Amino acid sequence: MYNAKSLKAEEFISDQEIKETLAYADANKDNISLIDEIIEKAKLGKGLTHREASVLLACENEEKLQEIYDLAKKIKEDYYGNRIVLFAPLYLSNYCVNGCVYCPYHMKNKHISRKKLTQDEIRKEVIALQDMGHKRLAIELGEDPVNNPIEYVLDSIKTIYDIKHKNGAIRRVNVNIAATTVENYRKLKEAGIGTYILFQETYNKESYESLHPTGPKHDYAYHTEAMDRAMEGGIDDVGLGVLFGLEMYRYEFAGILMHAEHLEAVHGVGPHTISVPRIKRADDIDPSAFDNGISDEIFAKIIALLRVSVPYTGMIISTREAKEVRAKALELGISQISGGSRTSVGGYVEEEPEEDNSAQFDVSDRRTLDEVMKWLIDLNYVPSFCTACYREGRTGDRFMSLCKSKQISNCCHPNALMTLKEYLVDYASPATKEAGLKLIERELLTIPKEKVREVTIQHLKEIENGQRDFRF
Ligand code: SAM
Repeated sequence: MYNAKSLKAEEFISDQEIKETLAYADANKDNISLIDEIIEKAKLGKGLTHREASVLLACENEEKLQEIYDLAKKIKEDYYGNRIVLFAPLYLSNYCVNGCVYCPYHMKNKHISRKKLTQDEIRKEVIALQDMGHKRLAIELGEDPVNNPIEYVLDSIKTIYDIKHKNGAIRRVNVNIAATTVENYRKLKEAGIGTYILFQETYNKESYESLHPTGPKHDYAYHTEAMDRAMEGGIDDVGLGVLFGLEMYRYEFAGILMHAEHLEAVHGVGPHTISVPRIKRADDIDPSAFDNGISDEIFAKIIALLRVSVPYTGMIISTREAKEVRAKALELGISQISGGSRTSVGGYVEEEPEEDNSAQFDVSDRRTLDEVMKWLIDLNYVPSFCTACYREGRTGDRFMSLCKSKQISNCCHPNALMTLKEYLVDYASPATKEAGLKLIERELLTIPKEKVREVTIQHLKEIENGQRDFRF
């Protein structure tokens, strides 16, 4: 039944294969020679299969776990250096016809405020985001063919890209909307989207169906096969994720790696990103009602193991997580984070009063973008607003070959430093600016090619003189 190349959800995410994988992992969780062999393979930096990775996830040997964490840190450093890409979610509409039991936007929720931004309101939200310093957004919408048709999404993307306010610009719009048709994916591609993001929520078909009892999202196969349709529609950067807490994490972990293997086997390119959301309190939603919640320790273990299993896939953590959890996650493999986020519709222009709540979930990390920037700089990370790859056409397998050729330090690193400089000149508080400028001085020395370093130094001066948007 299991076939990574099949286009049928139940064959590339075979329930039987996952169950056999978990049994194999249980049987070998103390098999130190096998565990050593898998760790040795992971050290080659080419990833692990879902079976191999599942054995490591089942392993509880402290010494071996430490080796895995050390390796995750090393792989992260080798492929991503110390750069962290920043983005913000932008909620356009919370109208929704689905019945997802963990989400406050579910149709039966009558007390949440339903809101949909007009193009003019979107402009105001985006200006507020630009004034914070953001360059990269992920737009979020509930599923509602009448209130949120694809035309609304396309108009909104155009509005966002067209806004030029002071030195601000949104240079990459990622899209997180419900599974749709090849034709609609093609339209999104033509509108110039970055990554198409769709969380699977759970790979377990039976749980999936009971967690999505009503609405179009109920259809497991249509949802699970969405990334294949997106790729058929020409989108080659797709972002996977599961909502941890809904199902057994070991099942989800095997499932998401099988999904990545499937995309690689069929389309020749794995997922561009993997997100790791955990279920949060929200209007109408009590996370303790879901009994598969995972501890911070297991969460860290999952992140480290995803890092070593799919080294070329970026990993995202949102403000669902608190500062301390995010710090640990950054060390172990996360390469993109959101900052200064609002999860309500219209929340950037105006914070909502409690009785008018449209938010999707409670945010744990409530710091401003500038506070997050300063924190990252103090931890010796280079916060980056770079969007160069996608704008230079380095998407899908072309991005992967950049990673594989290890040219990232001659390309991504200078781009990160130049976008950081833009932020420091245009938006930073004095303390962030001071710390950031020192960081740039230090980090310039790590650009390997002398010529690239010289051009970067030149551009950094030009940024001070008012020019913007340089990239390699
Ligand atoms: N409506 C779209 C769909 O069906 O995929 C996507 C957008 S939804 C705004 C983004 C994600 O938020 C969902 O895929 C889900 O995983 C997550 N989410 C929903 N309820 C949540 C909760 N209570 N806590 C944390 N994340 C939640």
